[in-house]
Amino acid sequence: MTGQQRIVVLGAGYAGLSAARRLARTSRDATITVVDSRTEFVERVRLHQQAAGQSIRRWELRELLERKGIEFVRAHVSDLDPAAKRVRLDGERSIAYDTLVYALGSAADRGVPGVAEYARSVATPGDVHALPAGPVVVVGAGSTGIELAAELAESQPDSHVTLLGAQEPGAWLSARAVAHIDASLTRLGVTIRSDAKVVEVLPAGVRLADDTVVPADTVVWTAGFTVPDLARRAGLDVDAHGRIRTDATLRSVSHPDIYAAGDAALVAGPGERPLRMACATALPTGGYVARAIVARARATEPEPLRFRYHLQCISLGRRDAVIQFLEADDTPAERVIRGRAGALVKEMIVRGAGMALGLR
Ligand SMILES: Cc1cc2nc3c(=O)[nH]c(=O)nc-3n(C[C@H](O)[C@H](O)[C@H](O)COP(=O)(O)OP(=O)(O)OC[C@H]3O[C@@H](n4cnc5c(N)ncnc54)[C@H](O)[C@@H]3O)c2cc1C
Repeated sequence: MTGQQRIVVLGAGYAGLSAARRLARTSRDATITVVDSRTEFVERVRLHQQAAGQSIRRWELRELLERKGIEFVRAHVSDLDPAAKRVRLDGERSIAYDTLVYALGSAADRGVPGVAEYARSVATPGDVHALPAGPVVVVGAGSTGIELAAELAESQPDSHVTLLGAQEPGAWLSARAVAHIDASLTRLGVTIRSDAKVVEVLPAGVRLADDTVVPADTVVWTAGFTVPDLARRAGLDVDAHGRIRTDATLRSVSHPDIYAAGDAALVAGPGERPLRMACATALPTGGYVARAIVARARATEPEPLRFRYHLQCISLGRRDAVIQFLEADDTPAERVIRGRAGALVKEMIVRGAGMALGLR
């Protein structure tokens, strides 16, 4: 390659910002451009707080990036042409790249009937609007559903909150963590149903697999995330969900000038299990991609990604949380931190993630 390497980063979430900032610090002879359809960075991990009526901070992406010498383009990425090495923006203009970082993240999976029409979501900043008072059904007993149900019940004690899931809230965690989540949700007045597979969202409730209907003024869908179909449409090798399949250095297995990080990447973690979609994986995979690109620009082969899990943090309102210690491969260890101490740890970790991205 002659002249400056043109590195284009798609997505200014945790993974894209982490990659772009490290590239700006460490790459020589490269121009770095970040493209995102939003003007502001919003801490996605706090969206359940916003849904419960709290105001959360926002940061201007242009300012955040330009002060680090990174160009910011506010545009919707509509297509990718890997043969021409061009990215189409807003369906009209296009920009060229030598190396692409694909970090377009994820959004709510609206595949179940009625979800798109009647359910709300807290998956992306554009989805979140303060919820009206009145009974709320939260669908999905994963970490997002648990955090949202607790937050709503704590800040709106008059709105009756029901958490519906096909398994116990936090079932993948240790017995102590599960017991604490159950006790905290119960203390906050949340009704928990762990036998409830939702098959349809209705104008005023949800239909379960056994054909019963749970009525609700408001339904919030947290049961599943999906990734943009851009990579699939562009002919990249992707998994059934549309995540880009990557090698041990996070390059697309089909298109080696494209790297992927964060929720939109399929990355082999410890024990060859795919990394789970999380801020806790998006930040390090974004940072790693930058290191791999810089290594190759210097004609050295990067060391493969080495990743291990440490903690999973689930907030239970503003004064309670559960911090689950993890084995390297994401299986839960015995140790947990609960209550106020847990809430403090979680807050410190969320702030730490922001600081790593230059948010002050
Ligand atoms: C309520 C909630 C709480 C959470 N809590 C935690 C937690 O406690 N811990 C944890 O580890 N994880 C948590 N997560 C998950 C975490 O937020 C995500 O895994 C993480 O944000 C993924 O980072 P990312 O950079 O891959 O994608 P994203 O943060 O989704 O960023 C992707 C970016 O790409 C942009 N984009 C997408 N498509 C296009 C397009 N076509 N054109 C232009 N721009 C585009 C988007 O605007 C966005 O800025 C939570 C998620 C939610 C919803």
